[in-house]
Amino acid sequence: MMHNNTIVVLGAGESGTGAAILAKKKGFSVFVSDAGTISATYKQLLNDNAISYEEGTHTTDLIFQAKEIIKSPGIPEKAPLIQQVKSLGISVISELEFAARYTNAKLICITGSNGKTTTTLLTYHILKQAGLHVGLAGNVGKSFALQVANETYDYYVIEISSFQLDDMYDFKADIAVLLNITPDHLDRYEYTFQNYINSKFRILQNMNSHDSFIYCNDDEVLIRELQQRTIVPHTFGYTTTNDSSQTGYLDSNTIHVKTPQKENLSMSVYDMLLKGKHNYGNTMAAAIAAQIVDIKNEQIRESLRTFSGVEHRLEKLSYTVRGVEFINDSKATNVNSTWYALESMDDNVIWIAGGTDKGNEYDSLYELATAKVKALVCLGVDNTKLIESFTGKIPVITEAKSMKEAVTKAYKLAQKGDTVLLSPCCASFDLFKNYIDRGLQFKQEVRNL
Ligand code: ADP
Repeated sequence: MMHNNTIVVLGAGESGTGAAILAKKKGFSVFVSDAGTISATYKQLLNDNAISYEEGTHTTDLIFQAKEIIKSPGIPEKAPLIQQVKSLGISVISELEFAARYTNAKLICITGSNGKTTTTLLTYHILKQAGLHVGLAGNVGKSFALQVANETYDYYVIEISSFQLDDMYDFKADIAVLLNITPDHLDRYEYTFQNYINSKFRILQNMNSHDSFIYCNDDEVLIRELQQRTIVPHTFGYTTTNDSSQTGYLDSNTIHVKTPQKENLSMSVYDMLLKGKHNYGNTMAAAIAAQIVDIKNEQIRESLRTFSGVEHRLEKLSYTVRGVEFINDSKATNVNSTWYALESMDDNVIWIAGGTDKGNEYDSLYELATAKVKALVCLGVDNTKLIESFTGKIPVITEAKSMKEAVTKAYKLAQKGDTVLLSPCCASFDLFKNYIDRGLQFKQEVRNL
């Protein structure tokens, strides 16, 4: 059945199904294999496109006949199947690598340890509001491959994780954005930070001198790395300090962005809905990208005025309960993102944190916690490390085993004018399905108060 025109897709999620449909459209013989169960929606799509698939198993006899394999980013490189495939000399690529072969659209690619989704959606919002024919892809929105198969966009804004970058070789971004690099997912990088850094820098591979690279000039890891590498594209740095030598900078409460040949774009942060220093950085990154694709400052300003952020990321609930405010930052699954959450708060926080610890070091939070947090509610199966770390630094520490208990306890501890902040700095898998489930439960329990 199989011959050397066969593409095998491993993993039938959003990206895998999209890749299979594009491959089929391009004339390949396609086989999809998923060791888990395939959702009804994706099965339907595969059936509609007459693509053969299996679930609950990987039939190696079929897989090993592939000319090329498109792998879901969720399958680790060290999985025995991938090791076997590679030892047979079969090339393994990501959906993004495959789809990019079939489009001439300009690709704006956003990566970093934190802020990818926010910056991707904001950049997309600006381009779309300005009337460009633009698609949203990568970790957010629909599969890039599926859109390449069905649409004719001139631009794509793509959120790219390090796992996707690991399987990208000839892919070239026209504009690359690197937001920050802090230790994350080290279990997939042999617990070596440099491996993860190298993975993030793959965003720059193949770029030429007409392309653009936007990066955060405040990130020490990033700066050190840039000094050691030859960077081919034009570079555009931004900072949340008052350093006007950068393309984007923050002068007290005003952001400034100026790329060559453009007028300076200035805007007070009070005129933007996105709040927090990290978000001013994300905003500058998006605005620089927008200027590079020639969008007028007035249009950029208008989009910044209307972009309200993304659910579960420092999401301020629209109501207060007896003068107490609630903020859902469930997506803060590492220490760095929680640092920015606390940094953006006033000094009256009841903080709900905890969950599955990914080897956290809490030292960097001590100063902010001591200054701003009145009480900590630890929400996890095992809270020992959190309690030990913050004892003596936060006056009141208590525990909860469910979101209902956490929200009720936090509310009881709060006084009028205080803020209850859910910013867990941990993954959610001990008590919740995922961060979305955790954030939705938080909002429901606040409604129930
Ligand atoms: P990602 O897609 O990279 O996970 P998100 O936009 O979903 O990023 O945000 C994840 C968490 O990180 C949220 O808690 C958010 O408030 C925080 N965050 C957003 N931008 C940044 C940034 N530039 N630096 C640090 N934390 C950030």
